[in-house]
Amino acid sequence: MTSIHLQAKEIAEIVIKSSYSIAFTGAGISAESGIPPFLGEGGIWSRYNPEVLEIDYFFRQPMKSWTVIKEIFYNFFVDVKPNAGHKILSKWENEGMLDAIITQNIDNLHQMAGSCEVYEFHGTTSRLICTDCNKTFSSESILSEKMLPTCTDCNGLLKPDFIFFGEGIPLKAYQQSIDAARKCKVFFIIGTSGEVSPANQIPALAKESGAVIIEINKETSFYTNRISDYFLQGSAGEILPLIDHYIQLNKVNRP
Ligand code: NAD
Ligand code: ZN
Repeated sequence: MTSIHLQAKEIAEIVIKSSYSIAFTGAGISAESGIPPFLGEGGIWSRYNPEVLEIDYFFRQPMKSWTVIKEIFYNFFVDVKPNAGHKILSKWENEGMLDAIITQNIDNLHQMAGSCEVYEFHGTTSRLICTDCNKTFSSESILSEKMLPTCTDCNGLLKPDFIFFGEGIPLKAYQQSIDAARKCKVFFIIGTSGEVSPANQIPALAKESGAVIIEINKETSFYTNRISDYFLQGSAGEILPLIDHYIQLNKVNRP
């Protein structure tokens, strides 16, 4: 048995025994769905000036900001679908093997795969929020209309309900993520470089609480030599099904 199979087998046993398990995901888990991460392959992000995602710029130049936002998040990524990695996490939640996902992604793919307990640390593209009255809208219902979406109640400017540079973390997701990290026994870190703060502080909370840290990434990350107990090098869409294979085997073989 190769070492990655041995690791996957060992992890399967740990996951089955764990009373509370969390997955912390980043752009890497969605790479196989066709959304390029910031780091690694795929240079689309370098084609855009990041200032369109700065909150001050958005209020100063809403039309310019929205033009690019629509192009990247609502036109380019419109047909993306969950991949094998997202699907395994959703299956594990159904089977009582995974308690929640903390995601830095804003692409809604965990929910599309069927996951319910998802803490969106950076918000989501799937909703728009009124910058005047805070009313929220489904992105689909609004985006087909005019270039600059406005609130049907107060006519205020709508913005995607994900955080722009210069905005704080959504309070509820922040608190849920901290609570989950503090009480978990197993903490998966999947497809994230650990370069973005304060999200990158969440895994350390799990480590401090004594959780087993299992990292899956194509490359080593900020976490690999600091806190990861297991580092499985490869794509999430291959490694997660491999761990699942041993979980299912283990369940069948149990007396
Ligand atoms: P990142 O771009 O900084 O790092 C991506 C990581 O994923 C890298 O370490 C890379 O080696 C790894 N990776 C690439 N392909 C992989 C695969 N198939 N399987 C496993 N690992 C793989 O991403 P980040 O750490 O999430 O930080 C980027 C920030 O940008 C986040 O805040 C996120 O909100 C945002 N972002 C979101 C999306 C999305 O919603 N899908 C996409 C790009 C960026
Ligand atoms: Zn409003």
